[in-house]
Amino acid sequence: MISVENLSKRYGRHQAVDDVSFRCEPGTVTGFLGPNGAGKSTTLRMLCGLTPPTAGRASVGGRAYRDLPNPGREVGVLLDASAQHAGRTGREALAVAAQTMGLDRREVGAKLDLVGLDAAAARRRVRAYSLGMRQRLGLALALLGDPRVLILDEPANGLDPEGIFWMRGLLRDFADRGGTVLLSSHLLREVEAVADRLVVIGGGRIVAQGDKAELLAGG
Ligand code: ADP
Ligand code: ADP
Repeated sequence: MISVENLSKRYGRHQAVDDVSFRCEPGTVTGFLGPNGAGKSTTLRMLCGLTPPTAGRASVGGRAYRDLPNPGREVGVLLDASAQHAGRTGREALAVAAQTMGLDRREVGAKLDLVGLDAAAARRRVRAYSLGMRQRLGLALALLGDPRVLILDEPANGLDPEGIFWMRGLLRDFADRGGTVLLSSHLLREVEAVADRLVVIGGGRIVAQGDKAELLAGG
């Protein structure tokens, strides 16, 4: 379960995130929607302990991310797929992460299969990957430790329509098995087919949140 309580972040005079609160429950997909610059990444970075909040709290399963005994096994995080592991091959990136987490190497092949990166792709360096391939690799890294929670920042960026459709199925399946998913997007169409709930942010503030069907019916 994800809990964000009165979270705020100020950069100088700029209030990037302003008193944001929401929760994500097991078995649900929450779409975190808002235009570029709305404060989505900053919120997710605070949730994952990468940016200190100016005020408020964020926790996963009742603990701050940094206090989780084995974060990679509990929370899968994909924050900026374009920046990861440029000098490694896809397989190496996963192997290093598996070793760090103390996982069996066989998990690497299993997760490559799961995200649809074939043997040829796995042998290539990540810097030669398209953004869509990086998103697939990022998802494989996030899923590597079989976490119960997924936090994904704009995972559909760079995916083609088939890839978006594929990811939708994967995230739905993850939630239907009791997982908790929080994914951000600047496009409603990328999240509306998969999300159960929507949290809408604009200018750092929550604009609306609730059950997707109710929110969309209410206009
Ligand atoms: P989103 O993910 O919704 O596109 P961000 O969280 O990246 O939005 O950014 C929210 C606002 O905070 C933007 O105006 C952005 O320029 C600003 N911002 C984000 N990170 C920093 C930073 N490290 N220093 C200064 N301003 C930042
Ligand atoms: P995203 O595309 O995920 O919203 P951005 O491109 O806004 O991310 O930001 C990428 C990085 O640059 C992040 O580390 C963010 O904190 C930082 N950043 C964003 N906006 C600013 C800003 N106005 N000043 C300084 N750093 C920023």
